[in-house]
Amino acid sequence: MFFDIIKNRIEQKNRTSKYPKKEIELPKNYRGLPKINTNCSIEIVEKCADVCPQDAINIENKTIDLRKCTFCGLCEKVSNGKFVTFTRNFEMASTKSEKLILNGEVENLKVSTNKSFKKMFGRSLQLRVVSAGGCNACEADINVLNTPFYDLSRFGIQFVASPRHADGLLITGPVTKNMEYALKKAYKDIPDPKIIIASGSCALSGGPFRNNIEQINGVENILKVDLFVPGCPPHPLTLLSAILDFFGIK
Ligand code: SF4
Ligand code: SF4
Repeated sequence: MFFDIIKNRIEQKNRTSKYPKKEIELPKNYRGLPKINTNCSIEIVEKCADVCPQDAINIENKTIDLRKCTFCGLCEKVSNGKFVTFTRNFEMASTKSEKLILNGEVENLKVSTNKSFKKMFGRSLQLRVVSAGGCNACEADINVLNTPFYDLSRFGIQFVASPRHADGLLITGPVTKNMEYALKKAYKDIPDPKIIIASGSCALSGGPFRNNIEQINGVENILKVDLFVPGCPPHPLTLLSAILDFFGIK
């Protein structure tokens, strides 16, 4: 029995990915950064806007608001790829909320890395995760980063239990009224300078809970956000690449 376990472990070899040195293979049906064809007819964009459950498509400007988008793929389906196609690019976070209203490329986070953040947190970063409502799928995918495959700690990044031990907050959920006070308190308890990362459609815009009276349509309405990570939930690679780029860890 004991030797079987050892043999099994040897056969498994090293399971930790080599990312970012080596790309990770994404699932076949993965939907990444949408590519928008602004030359398509208004009628097609209207059709897409009609089916969009998130009200994320602006017909006049032919844009998709990645803060609201849940990557359901309906717009690609009804437009037969004429208005939007989903690429396999998982790098889609931004330091500016309005840049996530897409009609072209998102910014290159490597360019926008804050030099002082890189100096302060590039070798050691402690984050407190706060689930401010939502459906918990975002938290499940954040937990994936702690598995042996991603092994977040090899980058010097750790999730900590107390805001007093943290350099910043990683927030998911639309911020329910019940969580608003706790979130503000966690923010206050983190020593300066501190970073705020909002992850997932809920944290960026309220997501599927948008305009519900029990929540406040995202973190930005109460705190200044430094990094916005779209998705519902964001793929672990989207979040990881955003953090590595933002803090110049890659
Ligand atoms: S993929 Fe996004 S923009 Fe397209 S229909 Fe779904 S929620 Fe709307
Ligand atoms: S963004 Fe989507 S996956 Fe994340 S908490 Fe909201 S509904 Fe759930």
